[in-house]
Amino acid sequence: MGRRRSPNPRLCNLEGCNERHYAKGVCKRHYHQFRRIEGKQSDREDMKKLQATS
Ligand SMILES: [Zn+2]
Repeated sequence: MGRRRSPNPRLCNLEGCNERHYAKGVCKRHYHQFRRIEGKQSDREDMKKLQATS
């Protein structure tokens, strides 16, 4: 044992993004984007986008 193949690999929740899931329901790229937005709370449009598809 030890070889586990997941039939349904999680993908990024953002629409139009097919990257593999990394954390918080999104891919690595969007996760870092999300964290930046969380910390700054200045890019409201991007934040809305993230929440809308989660
Ligand atoms: Zn993504």
